[in-house]
Amino acid sequence: MRSTDVARIVIVGAGIGGLAVAARLATLRHEVTICERSSSTGGASGSIVRDGFTFTTGPGLLTLPAVYRDLFLKTGAAIEDVVDLVPLASPTRESFAAATGARTVVDLPNASRSGTHDAFEAGFGPGAGDDWQRLLHRAGEMWGVTRKSFIEAPLLADPARRAERLRSAGSGRADLRVTAPWRSLRSLGRATLSDPRLRAHLERFAAEAGCHPGKAPATLATLPYLEETFGVWWVRGGLHRMTEALHARCLQRKVKVRTDTEVVAIEREGDRVGGVRLADGGRLAADIVITDLPTDPHAAGLVSGPGAAGARRVPAASATLELHLALRGHTPEMPHRTYLFADDPGREPDALFARRPAPPSDPTLCVLAPDDPTLAPEGHSAWTVQLRVPPHGVVDWASAAVRDTYPATLLDLLARRGLDVRDRVLWSELRTPADVAAATGAPGGAAPGAGADGPRNAPRRVPNRSAVPGLFSVGASAHPGGGLPRVGMSAALVAELIGRA
Ligand SMILES: Cc1cc2nc3c(=O)[nH]c(=O)nc-3n(C[C@H](O)[C@H](O)[C@H](O)COP(=O)(O)OP(=O)(O)OC[C@H]3O[C@@H](n4cnc5c(N)ncnc54)[C@H](O)[C@@H]3O)c2cc1C
Repeated sequence: MRSTDVARIVIVGAGIGGLAVAARLATLRHEVTICERSSSTGGASGSIVRDGFTFTTGPGLLTLPAVYRDLFLKTGAAIEDVVDLVPLASPTRESFAAATGARTVVDLPNASRSGTHDAFEAGFGPGAGDDWQRLLHRAGEMWGVTRKSFIEAPLLADPARRAERLRSAGSGRADLRVTAPWRSLRSLGRATLSDPRLRAHLERFAAEAGCHPGKAPATLATLPYLEETFGVWWVRGGLHRMTEALHARCLQRKVKVRTDTEVVAIEREGDRVGGVRLADGGRLAADIVITDLPTDPHAAGLVSGPGAAGARRVPAASATLELHLALRGHTPEMPHRTYLFADDPGREPDALFARRPAPPSDPTLCVLAPDDPTLAPEGHSAWTVQLRVPPHGVVDWASAAVRDTYPATLLDLLARRGLDVRDRVLWSELRTPADVAAATGAPGGAAPGAGADGPRNAPRRVPNRSAVPGLFSVGASAHPGGGLPRVGMSAALVAELIGRA
């Protein structure tokens, strides 16, 4: 580092993690440059705008908004000054196949434990709401144990410090009973919830994180706990508006944002980082380099030399496919998201992770239908259907055969499950894991770092501070993991590790 305390910081990747850490560090008066290989910022959190319709690609809602409230407030002005953040009035409907007759439907309220209890009692029968409350109580205890000592503490590559931190991360006997690091989310569900539909409700949180519920840690139960406790939120105009606001905040803070600038190597000066080499042959000197990549920078071959070994093997992850639908007309009383569960949700993860080279035939579908008039021309609707699929490479998602036929397969499946919009489609756009891979560099377009969750698996995550002095990491592949809240937390952790100029 130069004698002055102002560090020259280069950030590799302008996903939401890269933008967030840039804004924080520029506010601390460092000289910050972001290098982004594509022509726009935002990475997995983007948008499609066409013929008056707007679709958010990637995140369909925001949980734990406190993370982004803190970020915007500490870098200049409150989040409410830059985006219209709204709690969702009718956030979630879940619909399950029934042995005979109509599907079973439950409507879940936003941030209401008693409302959720009543919805499960009414939908699944007496006792279901109580079962769910018991599970959520346990999840609340898990959050209490893991939040301060694990989620909100940085992961360091230094083996001694890491071991010490993991030992203190809820390792007392009582804490271990709560977090049960030996237990999977599926086994927790089977032990606590007698109704298979409730178990499917729980396991969808593993699916959304890209994991098999039989391999995901039980502590993923904190995800429904956070949704029910702090609510789910939408940004008017689409979630990508928050990414755009963050990009604008970076510019206000004098961050240099360089798009179309791919980093091909992180170079050293002596034993610490000294800069980055660009694909066009240029070089940027740096005291500190922060990666916001969907992979370990060592595994990606960006770092060489001492301290570069030890890329972590992360368990296999699934990917998300999106079908964006520009529709004529409105469907009355559509909630923000509707889950149309697979006929056999318990078997779905096995089929998903079996590495069959074909698109899934009985996937759970999540229909996102934001009640936001800015997203479609009057009298029209902008829907996105999301489902979990094998990554690109297992299935050839770029093949014309798949791209041409799968949208009609999904529309037929929607119709069979009660949402027939086939005669209302003006146009549709399929966004497959091949497109996510191209947009973010995530291998196969799969969820980065999925499965490396919870105290026991954390060493498989990319540490926030590398063994190479001056090298740090944020984003979904780094600790504490993927999804907007955790990615935002990784940025706060790294900004704190680097500190003030
Ligand atoms: C379909 C889908 C649905 C999702 N739904 C939700 C949801 O509902 N809620 C939620 O919280 N989260 C959701 N997520 C997850 C969330 O979007 C991600 O966790 C988050 O956006 C990841 O941000 P990131 O900062 O890690 O970087 P990424 O978005 O992965 O961006 C990385 C950036 O690095 C750039 N890059 C890569 N290599 C280089 C290089 N060598 N040089 C320069 N730049 C490089 C890429 O171009 C990219 O812009 C979803 C994700 C997907 C794909």
